[in-house]
Formats: sequence, structure tokens, C-alpha cells
Amino acid sequence: MQHEYDVIIVGGGLAGNCLALALKDTGLRCAIIEANTPEQLANSPAGDRALALAAGTVQQLEELDVWQGISTAATAIKNIHISDKGHFGKTRLSADKEHVAALGYVITARDLETHVAHSVTATDTVQICPARVVGLESDAEVIHVSIQQGEETQTLTAKLLVGADGGQSSIRQLLNIAQHITEYGQNALVTTIKSTLLHKNTAFERFTASGPLALLPIANNQCSVVWTRTTDDAKALMQSSEADFLAELQACFGYKLGRLTLTAPRRSFPLSLICAEKMRANRAVIIGNAVHQLHPVAGQGFNLGLRDVVQLAAMISAQHQAGSDIGAEDFLTDYAKARQKDHDLVINFTNNVIRIFSNDWLPLAAARNVGLTLLDHLPKAKSLLSRYAMGLEQTD
Ligand SMILES: Cc1cc2nc3c(=O)[nH]c(=O)nc-3n(C[C@H](O)[C@H](O)[C@H](O)COP(=O)(O)OP(=O)(O)OC[C@H]3O[C@@H](n4cnc5c(N)ncnc54)[C@H](O)[C@@H]3O)c2cc1C
Repeated sequence: MQHEYDVIIVGGGLAGNCLALALKDTGLRCAIIEANTPEQLANSPAGDRALALAAGTVQQLEELDVWQGISTAATAIKNIHISDKGHFGKTRLSADKEHVAALGYVITARDLETHVAHSVTATDTVQICPARVVGLESDAEVIHVSIQQGEETQTLTAKLLVGADGGQSSIRQLLNIAQHITEYGQNALVTTIKSTLLHKNTAFERFTASGPLALLPIANNQCSVVWTRTTDDAKALMQSSEADFLAELQACFGYKLGRLTLTAPRRSFPLSLICAEKMRANRAVIIGNAVHQLHPVAGQGFNLGLRDVVQLAAMISAQHQAGSDIGAEDFLTDYAKARQKDHDLVINFTNNVIRIFSNDWLPLAAARNVGLTLLDHLPKAKSLLSRYAMGLEQTD
């Protein structure tokens, strides 16, 4: 195996693999280290979750030559319907009114992850898996990366190490980057339903006293369900019979789509907000969930992570073309500065959605309903919200 690289990426999830694709034509020698085998990744239950992709994300995936090969597996979101159970507020966003083909797209994580992983195998990127990073040490020239593969340990070097190893990032830990964790005491229940009425490419976001419920349109008139409940409720709902689960889901969502039936197993994901205190350390940077693991309520995690990828790849490419060091401290500081505002904005937005809509205190409930109702009558504000949902306003 080759031991010297320009860029070593740790983590072959969406962020790490998309970065490898974004760097494929730069002439840089890249390697990806992934802890799981392709079979383990393809069969992981976590692959069942649906991802709502903003229009801006789809544009970026097109530029990476990813979207062209997978777009048929995605469903366009033509309308977004936001409502508040037990209150009068509701609002609708529409692609037609925004003069765009779609407000976003929904795709099963497994489909996108598998396609992106296959695309990487067609590049010169060296894939090292299953393997884990067990030690890091940097000097003025390179970073030394010790990896363990089975019983064997060896050391690779790179000018830059990128940690894209997810919410439980071991790279973040090895770099001694502190993390702030907010436990929400909630789980996301994920499943798929079929309805007797057509979803008409509408994504439903329903805020209820027991937590937000999203129904995202997918193929064959099915919807992917992301239902946030307290940890105790989630446990009970996972253990309940299919009929009881469905009855509770139907009671929460109502009959806007007619009668619902389950078409996939139920999965439960514990939810926490993990924010790394900084994005960089000596000759290393962390991206994607390794730096920000968000609550899925606003569907922003991968959308935000891909913007890390695109920015980092563009800056690495320019730095390399200029003949400068891609692991230099001031270069990585510039990258971190360039990303900070977007991170803060999305984290605040997500937290505000959770705070405002999880609270049933009467004045707040009234205020949010007035907000939703006003929004329905204020075309400019609605247009702004649509553009935010589409991922076109993230830097404002
Ligand atoms: C229920 C749910 C719904 C969601 N909905 C949306 C949505 O609608 N829209 C959206 O944009 N986002 C959504 N997200 C978030 C999105 O799934 C994540 O932001 C995204 O998948 C993170 O990608 P990543 O590559 O950064 O991390 P990961 O997907 O966690 O990938 C990390 C990779 O690193 C590997 N790894 C871990 N440790 C090591 C190690 N020590 N050494 C080597 N490799 C390692 C792992 O095996 C994995 O392959 C949702 C998340 C959940 C849980």
C-alpha cells in the first residue's frame, strides 16, 4: 500500500465520499479510511432514513456528477405544508409560486450513500477499509496517521487530514477538539407509510404537543416518516403493536392523506446536538457530522455538511494550484472562518424550530400560530422561507 498522500479523509459516509469526488480531478493523491466494509454500510438500518435535500444541495451534487446517476431514485418536493396540531396556524410553500421545478428532493439515505460510494471506486482515490485511525501526530511538513487494519498497524502520512467520521468522530477526539453536546431526550422514529390519498409531492411538517412529525413524499405514493418523540414515548411506540403504532401516528397526523398503512420496519434514532468547539487543529480539519450533528427536525444535516465539502474542496484546489501548503495553519483558519457563519445560522435556526414548536405554553403557542398564519398571508416572508428551505439563503 502507498504510504504518502496529500489528503487523507477519515470516514466514507456522505461527507467523506463527496469530498473524495470533489477532489478527483485536482491531481492530489487522496485516500479514504473507513471503519466498515461496503456490505456493512449497505446493510446498516440507518440507511432507511430519508434525506430531504435542498435545491442548492442538488445543484452541488450535479456539479459533483453524483445527481445525474441517482436522480430517478429521488422524489421532487413541489409543496411544503406546515401545520400545528390543535391550533389554527398553517402555511403552505409552493414550487410553482417560487417559479422553480422543486422546493427540494427526498431520497433514501442508502440509495444516495451507495451511489456516492460506487462513484468513488471509479476514481484514483485509495480506499482503505475496514480500518480505524488509532493515532495522529503532526510536524511542520506532514501529519502522521496510524491506522489499524485487523491485527496490523501502519503509519501513513498526509499534508492534510480530514475527519469526516460522523457524530461520534474519533478524529475530533484524537485532535483534542472539545465538543458541546445537547441531549434532547428525544428519538426520531423513522418508517415508511402508504396512504389512501395521493401525496401530490407534498412534504408535511406537523408540530404536535408530543413532538414534530414530518411526512416526506417518496415513490409509489409512499411517505417517509420522521417522527420526533420523547425517549420514553419512542421506546413505548417501538414496542407497541403495528396497529397501535399506526393508530397513534394517524391521530397525530390526521386524515389529510386518508388512511395510513405501514410499509417498512420502524427504526429509532436517539437525538442530540453535537457541536465541535473548533473545526481545525494541526494539519487537520473536521467536516460534516464530525463538526455538527443536528436534530433532523429541519432536515439540514447533510445539506450543511455538503456545503463544508464544496467550500473545502474549492479552497484545497486553489491552494494546491497556487503551489501552497494545503495543511498550512493560516489556510485552515481561513477555511474555518469561511464556514462559521453558515454553521451558526443553521444551528440557531434548528434550535429555534425545536424550542418554539416543542413548547405548548399558551402565549408561545399563540405567537407561533400568529406567525404561521401571518406567514401564509405575507408572500415576501413565505418566499424567504421557501428559499431557506431550498438552501438558497444560507449565507444571509
Ligand atoms: C433520522 C434522521 C433524519 C435525517 N434527515 C435529514 C434530512 O432530511 N436532510 C439532511 O440534510 N440531513 C438529514 N439527516 C442528517 C444526515 O443523515 C447526516 O448529516 C449525514 O448523513 C452525515 O454524513 P457524514 O458523512 O458527515 O457522517 P456519517 O454518515 O455518520 O458517516 C461517517 C462515516 O465514518 C465512518 N467512521 C466512523 N468512525 C470511524 C473511524 N474511527 N474510522 C474510520 N471511519 C469511521 C462511519 O462508518 C461512516 O461511514 C438526518 C439524520 C437522521 C438521523
